[in-house]
Amino acid sequence: MNERETLGERLAQQGISRRAFLKFCAAMATMMALPPGSVSAIAAALASAKRPSVIWLSFQECTGCTESLTRSHSPTLESLIFDMISLDYHHTLQAASGHGAEKSREDAMREFFGSYLLLVDGSIPLKDGGIYSTIAGRTNLDLLEEAAKGAAAIVAVGSCAAFGGLPNAQPNPTGAVAVSDIIRDKPIVNISGCPPIPAVITGVLAHYLTFGELPVLDDLGRPKAFYGETIHDRCYRRPFYEQGKFAKTFDDEGARNGWCLYELGCKGPTTHNACATTKWNGGAGFPIEAGHGCLGCSEPKFWDAGSFYAPLPSPTADVASVAQAAAVVGAGAAVALSALDRNKRKRVQQAREKLTVKDLT
Ligand code: SF4
Ligand code: SF4
Repeated sequence: MNERETLGERLAQQGISRRAFLKFCAAMATMMALPPGSVSAIAAALASAKRPSVIWLSFQECTGCTESLTRSHSPTLESLIFDMISLDYHHTLQAASGHGAEKSREDAMREFFGSYLLLVDGSIPLKDGGIYSTIAGRTNLDLLEEAAKGAAAIVAVGSCAAFGGLPNAQPNPTGAVAVSDIIRDKPIVNISGCPPIPAVITGVLAHYLTFGELPVLDDLGRPKAFYGETIHDRCYRRPFYEQGKFAKTFDDEGARNGWCLYELGCKGPTTHNACATTKWNGGAGFPIEAGHGCLGCSEPKFWDAGSFYAPLPSPTADVASVAQAAAVVGAGAAVALSALDRNKRKRVQQAREKLTVKDLT
């Protein structure tokens, strides 16, 4: 590891051409929702940026967040990102194990105190002294508090680290909480999702490298560039929603015609994430394109918020009547429906029923 090495030097050593680098910067600008004119500024900032030390701690999690990151392969933005940081500790990805692994974490924390980035996936159990998840004999709480002290900023990767996630679902047997429930004196960005989109993780890291600070966040600590809109806002099935055309089962004519999945439980109207625009698997698609509604995985408490297959309790009849009324008074139906959505979104989310086993059968 060499923190003094700049990204430009690192890429030059690896024979990456200026053209490829600028292409990468253009993709970064798109990911960060910046104008095309910002590409040269991003290139200059990134070329001279020092590769920061990154310590990644995994707590109560399923490794899905790491899987998500490592399985993204095209385009090769993510591999470039890993040239941009020095990943000094990561349970799953590091070659070292046992005492050697723990020593690399301690060395990085000491050498780069005050400047390293701390990435965390998984929730932190607090019940019974935190004994339900330990690493090298130490509780997750202990490790988090220690590592947070020297971190310049913390990135909570995935819904477990951001909001407590599945371990926090009722009855929450381990007393699982989010990173932000424990650490109050450091900048924290929440990259929610179960798992989060890999390009969103790398986009946030690129933003930090380029501007030296975390991106603008929403009221749940998520980067607005990726979580500023709902899935529903940008869903390609939205015209069918507005026309009142809904699939009633997963194999009816409506489903075959690609109609809206609202009545099959889609939580897109209340879920903020970039799936409909950034997409998954190198931009190949996202769940709604595969015929399944959004589960709402990037929102707090999504496991407890109601059946994945029960429609949001917002009567679709309203959609048709509002569209009709809008047409009568000459207003755009889409505008009227958007207003309807905004007003209802919070109420609908609060009114969702509890999940039961029966809902899933
Ligand atoms: S309800 Fe779901 S499928 Fe229908 S338009 Fe909204 S996000 Fe798309
Ligand atoms: S479509 Fe919804 S449930 Fe699926 S990954 Fe995106 S936010 Fe999560």
